[in-house]
Amino acid sequence: MAILPISVLGQPILRQETVPVEVVTDELRALADDMIETMRAAEGVGLAAPQVGRTERLAVVEVDGQLFTLFNPEIVARQAKIKWEEGCLSIPDVYGWIERSEYVKVRAMGRDGEPVEVEGTGLLAVCLQHEIDHLHGKLFIDHLSFLKRRAALAVWEEERGKYPDGLRVLAGRSEERGEGANSEDVK
Ligand code: ZN
Repeated sequence: MAILPISVLGQPILRQETVPVEVVTDELRALADDMIETMRAAEGVGLAAPQVGRTERLAVVEVDGQLFTLFNPEIVARQAKIKWEEGCLSIPDVYGWIERSEYVKVRAMGRDGEPVEVEGTGLLAVCLQHEIDHLHGKLFIDHLSFLKRRAALAVWEEERGKYPDGLRVLAGRSEERGEGANSEDVK
């Protein structure tokens, strides 16, 4: 297991469509394990493959002690609306209130390639939608109104200098950046 560097806003991979996974191999399970370790090191509740520089359609989610490894996740049902303040491990220190579905049902392949269904409300539902967006090159700031998006990007302009290579290297491995242990990011 390894903590992977996280790509931050501006890295083209965050805007790319991912490639569906046909067969879950040992290599992909190892990638999922590294993503889980990275998500936990960043104190996040979800992480998608493009955030660690990969093109596979894979996300990991951990909410309230429930851990999910999801290959090719798709939303198959949604209900009601909720407003939630979101952040993103790839856009550190930027937050915004987003309207999402309050409930979603997701179909995916699990870590052994078996079909899985996940139903969630509240934070779990929001997190599933946020991570699935990542797998289609979409970021939470895309859901903001023009003015709120501009304000969020102004905050990011102040922050982006901390990541000169477009990479966020997490605490424990990055003494000189002094980053991570006090992270307040939720995703
Ligand atoms: Zn994110």
